[in-house]
Amino acid sequence: MTDADTNGGNTERERVSVPDEVELPRLLDFYELQTEDQTQIHEFYENLRDGQLTTTQCTDCEAIHFPPRIVCPKCTSDDLEYVDLPHEGELFAFSEVRGGLPMGLSEHDVPYVVGVVDLGPVRLSGRVDDAAYSDLEIGDPVSLKIVEIDGPTDEERVFYRFEPQDGDSR
Ligand SMILES: [Zn+2]
Repeated sequence: MTDADTNGGNTERERVSVPDEVELPRLLDFYELQTEDQTQIHEFYENLRDGQLTTTQCTDCEAIHFPPRIVCPKCTSDDLEYVDLPHEGELFAFSEVRGGLPMGLSEHDVPYVVGVVDLGPVRLSGRVDDAAYSDLEIGDPVSLKIVEIDGPTDEERVFYRFEPQDGDSR
């Protein structure tokens, strides 16, 4: 029947396929490239890889910045040096990510907690691991945690997070 031919009922169907894995587009890689060729704040990442959280301080006006800068936003001097930051601080504010995980974050483990941590010289935002939102309070002591990043580059990249200091919340 011609009807069968037109709707494809009796003809062999062509097969199409999609890749088993989708390669992550460069722009959806959540973490910054960290080598000297790729970023002018590579020293921040080198220090972090060595286990020390640092940031820049202006040697002219003594302002401490976070994130690290290449020019002081306060006095426009480019005479900056890297200084150590404390690895322990207090939770200044926090929230929970329950859905809508950004593309490029390969860990599908929502919910997770993000917070603003007061380290003294600076406040910075970061993920808070090993803690449920309901178990946290503003002012809770947290400490630095350094994670290694798997991803589409060959470099050994790292990033910082925080975790509760007692380690046994929840
Ligand atoms: Zn300055």
